Amino acid sequence: MNMTLQQIASAMAASIEHDHDQPVSRVSIDSRAVRQGDLFFCIVGQKLDGHEFARQAVANGACAVVASAPLDLDVPVLLVRDTTSALGRLARVWREGTRARVIGVSGSAGKTTVKEMLAQVLSAAGRTAKNFRNLNNQIGLPLSILEMDGDEDFWVLELGISQPGDMDELGYILAPDAALLVNIGACHLEGLGSLSGVAEQKSILLDHVRKGGFACVNADYPELLQQSARRDPKLVTFSGAGARADYSCLRQENVEGSISYTVRVKGEELRCKVSHNVHIAENLAAVVAMAMELGLGMAAIESSLAEYSPVTQRFAQSRVGTWLFIDDTYNANPVSMARSIREAGRLGEGKRLVLVLGDMLELGADSSRAHRELGELIADTGASHCFFQGNHAQDVEAGLGGFTGVFKKVSGAEEVLQALSAVRCEQGVMLFKGSRGCKMEQYYSALERSW
Ligand code: ATP
Ligand code: MG
Repeated sequence: MNMTLQQIASAMAASIEHDHDQPVSRVSIDSRAVRQGDLFFCIVGQKLDGHEFARQAVANGACAVVASAPLDLDVPVLLVRDTTSALGRLARVWREGTRARVIGVSGSAGKTTVKEMLAQVLSAAGRTAKNFRNLNNQIGLPLSILEMDGDEDFWVLELGISQPGDMDELGYILAPDAALLVNIGACHLEGLGSLSGVAEQKSILLDHVRKGGFACVNADYPELLQQSARRDPKLVTFSGAGARADYSCLRQENVEGSISYTVRVKGEELRCKVSHNVHIAENLAAVVAMAMELGLGMAAIESSLAEYSPVTQRFAQSRVGTWLFIDDTYNANPVSMARSIREAGRLGEGKRLVLVLGDMLELGADSSRAHRELGELIADTGASHCFFQGNHAQDVEAGLGGFTGVFKKVSGAEEVLQALSAVRCEQGVMLFKGSRGCKMEQYYSALERSW
């Protein structure tokens, strides 16, 4: 961004003692990362209060500080009621000044994946900016927006919610020209209540789409579609299951490192061959729908996605000896868990399939049921082994029914290694996945090292 301190103060309705016309091009919330000339925001978090680090930020070169309590510093202090909302208001003002077309991506699983795929595709048509990694909440979204120079052609930003009210705040900050709702699933139920609660909260993004804008919504989730249809923007539908929709994708086959899809675009059938990393049809459908509505052609989409490689820890495949290891350890909820296990099963057809899984967290009262259903799914895949770390091993076991493989609760990679020593020389596929808190990447790296 590029604004004067005075413009920033008025964007946030902050009180400031004198007029300051010095330009600011960067904001920071981490006093250790402050660089000369940054504007430091004292964010009040659950564990830490940024006000305590203001002095350090100034020592590191902050030109001014945004605070919600008076501070005695040698640089201007911009006083606001709430520093996090002030950060959001500033980002909104910066967003209003951009010439870029702004796209907001939300959904229960796949926001980062779709954001990265879409940004790669749109880069073929113009300068494209996106949130850094996963910065998608009321702090990360504004920080991402304020990183942009405003002169880009497209901004692609993911929005992540966990509580009612979150989407209103994020939608206000972004005011997208187009919204993309990838899917809904039983996640963050502790905050959002039920699947229809998730659908309702996600679709609130559509209320914030600018006049004349549009929304691409996954038609495979009836509740999401219903909730979205009640809102104003023009609806464009897509399907990853070959169902009736404006854009509908059906996965056909694996062909030497690529995957071939049939894509029906408003009645016309097209073929599309993309990288084997684009293995989830609804993600492709989402990207095709949004990119085509923004004016791109299928050839550009196809050639961009021929080279697509996954974000780390999102179903990243590597060869380890005679095995295919799949690092999907970034996170897990029932939607992504089911999809990843099925996909691993597909890749493992005719080979040995091993699952190294951890708890799905933040499911509230639904936890036991979701883990029992996970057990049923595991029994269905024909895996030879399932190693499980976490508090819900018993629930998973209760769902296993007629599972013929080995199920073992584990608390470290050593146990997995030992149990698999006899099958290492075979051909196999091993999937690693669990919620962020389970840190299943520790299993991945230990096994990859010692395999
Ligand atoms: P977060 O809420 O943490 O930001 P996210 O929505 O950005 O997550 P990703 O980081 O893209 O999602 O992916 C999370 C997990 O979901 C990964 O395991 C990924 O492989 C898987 N995944 C990606 N797309 C989908 C999809 N359409 N459906 C189900 N799972 C998906
Ligand atoms: Mg994400």
